[in-house]
Amino acid sequence: MSAFQVFLLFFIPSVASSQQVSYNFQPDSSSLETLEVMQLFENYLASNPQHQEKNAYWNTEEQQNFKNYDFLASEFQPSLYMGFPVHVLSIKTHEDIYEIKAQFSYSQEDGSPYVLAIVNYMAQKENGVYKLVNALSINRQKWRCTTVGWVDFYYPPSHSFNQKKAEKLNDFIDQICSNFGIEPTPFEYYLADDFDEIQRLKGLDYYLGMGGSSKPRGKAGEHKVYCGGMGEYYPHEVFHVLIDKHFPNKHVWASEGIATLLGGSRGKSLDWHLKKTKSYLQKHPELNLNEMLTLTNLDSETAFHYVLGGLIARKFIEKGGWNLLTELMRSGKNDQDYYRSIEQHLGINQMELNEFLRKELEQVSEY
Ligand SMILES: [Zn+2]
Repeated sequence: MSAFQVFLLFFIPSVASSQQVSYNFQPDSSSLETLEVMQLFENYLASNPQHQEKNAYWNTEEQQNFKNYDFLASEFQPSLYMGFPVHVLSIKTHEDIYEIKAQFSYSQEDGSPYVLAIVNYMAQKENGVYKLVNALSINRQKWRCTTVGWVDFYYPPSHSFNQKKAEKLNDFIDQICSNFGIEPTPFEYYLADDFDEIQRLKGLDYYLGMGGSSKPRGKAGEHKVYCGGMGEYYPHEVFHVLIDKHFPNKHVWASEGIATLLGGSRGKSLDWHLKKTKSYLQKHPELNLNEMLTLTNLDSETAFHYVLGGLIARKFIEKGGWNLLTELMRSGKNDQDYYRSIEQHLGINQMELNEFLRKELEQVSEY
């Protein structure tokens, strides 16, 4: 997603303005409840939801349980609420629940729409007044839930639950938490064969970047892990949900590298990604790894921060075990901090990284 985030940044200044709301249909003015829900949604959009502060239009329970209570907000960087005009496509009612389908988009100079997302919100009464609710909280009632150890596994009714993999995930949790000296905390784990099934569960019908062939994919949120294509065992995201929050002063390459070392990436081991990176770099002698932190994705399934970050993490653990790996998670957020940590603990200066990493990669098949 990182290339995508950078891409979006170019658009923010041009679309940032007060939130506009339009409708793709003639609202039913005879239904006072529909009008109430429309007003609720408009009020919410006008309340600066990007800040995720205490909000009169969102239900109390989710606000109490989650700092970022609107799960759609963090689906985009810096936020879903970055100023895109909102076009309401439909408002549907089922029993006492309203579903609002909204498109976040703007019209480009040539007249074609630039669509960021099509998302769904739910509205439900709280003490007689409609409040917004995450689609996830409503939709998951149709999914199954099985608790094993620290994890509440949510999955579609068509999925047959794999108890062995669920237990293996708990073994992974106990192991990494003990190695990092952390007490595990319970979390929710949403799984499906395809990641977009989970996106729909969360209320995302469309998001910029959707498409391509279906591959294992995961994402970690606040007390939540979302995984497509890997069943009950997706350790990479589980590392993020449990460990990251304990180390606020870390570089993204440290976290992604260790997650890949311990849990692989997109269903493949660090070694698998290393072999691929080895042959890629052999074909690209011009790539200067002294500036490795400027590199992003190698292709659609391998990213440099995962694979080279993973290689660095492996050198740390070889050199000083879990203590040194924990040190890497505390070594600072800036690029210079990360380079400095490598120099301090591995004795490799930034200007020696290209030679060092290429030599390390030469030995990859022997791992
Ligand atoms: Zn990750």
